[in-house]
Amino acid sequence: MVIAVICGGGNGAHVCAGITSSQPGVEARVLTLFADEAERWANATKDHDFTVTLHAANKDPVKLVSKPSMVTKDPAEAMRGNVDIIVFTVPAFAHKNYLEQLKPYVKPGMILAGCPGQAGFEFAVRGIWGELALKVSVMSFESLPWACRVLEFGRAAEVLGTKATLVGAVTECTPKPSSDPTATLQKVLGDAPKLVVKGHLLGITLMGTNGYLHPSIMYGTWHKWDGKPLKEVPVFYNGLDEFSAKLLSDISDEVVATAKAIMKQRPQVDLNNVSHILQWYHRCYADDIEDKGSLYTCIKTNRAYKGLPHPMTKRDDGSYVPNFGYRYLTEDIPFGLVVMRGIATIAGVPTPNIDTIINWAQKLLGKEYLVDGELKGKDLPESRCPQRYGLASLDTILGLA
Ligand code: NAD
Repeated sequence: MVIAVICGGGNGAHVCAGITSSQPGVEARVLTLFADEAERWANATKDHDFTVTLHAANKDPVKLVSKPSMVTKDPAEAMRGNVDIIVFTVPAFAHKNYLEQLKPYVKPGMILAGCPGQAGFEFAVRGIWGELALKVSVMSFESLPWACRVLEFGRAAEVLGTKATLVGAVTECTPKPSSDPTATLQKVLGDAPKLVVKGHLLGITLMGTNGYLHPSIMYGTWHKWDGKPLKEVPVFYNGLDEFSAKLLSDISDEVVATAKAIMKQRPQVDLNNVSHILQWYHRCYADDIEDKGSLYTCIKTNRAYKGLPHPMTKRDDGSYVPNFGYRYLTEDIPFGLVVMRGIATIAGVPTPNIDTIINWAQKLLGKEYLVDGELKGKDLPESRCPQRYGLASLDTILGLA
């Protein structure tokens, strides 16, 4: 029996709980630390089925009716006995709390999988778990396995699409684990998506593309905004302009240059899992893009993004102003661009484009990360850049020291 502790209480956690608990030989437990979610979920499901409906193109929907063995907010209860794997299916800003509360119950040989880990996941694990992190196999994946949503809290959720493959990386524990981490996670998730685990964990951090995609479009659209309200809500991805696409491409070049600089200095490290975002679009959205010619057209003609709007606030008179307090900046700067900047600094790679956006965004957010071109702002501890955890050399960020 594989025991999996699923962390989170949102869309991903609901779907993971349903899918995992229906796998043969797997026990699924849910740990949610947020507000009264555990109590609400446990009550909702007490005398009621828990159903996850799987949709897939050209196939009839499949209904899974299967409950996790527990839903709790108590880490001691969730971690009782021989837990094999902890799966994070919760946004990055919530990881810190889970890592801190789980720490006393983590045992050598366990697996921790971030699905997604998002940029700086491994730094947070090492920063919070310290030496213990070396005794655990840490996996990070570039996304959630599914596009999904809760239909009725604690009772029903649906999968709109399952990724065919999910790319990730692992740092195995020392001593070597008795069972293969990838095989264990595959057993927990079922046959799909097929897990493709290759290269160094840092490559998954650098491919935290939301961290540069969203801020580039926000900056491109709003950095010259005259402050006048708009009559309509602009379209986010499909509405991007050539300027934002070029900025995004330039930032992606800085990220790729960072990976190359690291491989040059540490040839034993495989960061071939880092690619330009144009290749990433070709791989991840192969069937959704009408015109694959350039990065601009890949985003502009991407059907998966159809109609998704800019985050805006509606005013009393019915007009709209941009909402700079949305996760495209509040999360994607500290858990995205600031992380990339921190790694690039250690690798010795200049990042003028990343800096332009951080400097602009931190003013809007009322935060300080970059000061005089250095990562020494007062709000750095809220970010996941490696320096914030005292990881300031190439060997420490790579886990070689
Ligand atoms: P979600 O928005 O459903 O997560 C909400 C959950 O986060 C809450 O239920 C709660 O458990 C927790 N939470 C919210 N506020 C909190 C707070 N202040 N403190 C602590 N915990 C808090 O997230 P999701 O849709 O399950 O996505 C999980 C991750 O996967 C995210 O990083 C998301 O970007 C990514 N992702 C999601 C999808 C999708 O289709 N849902 C697709 C691709 C990637």
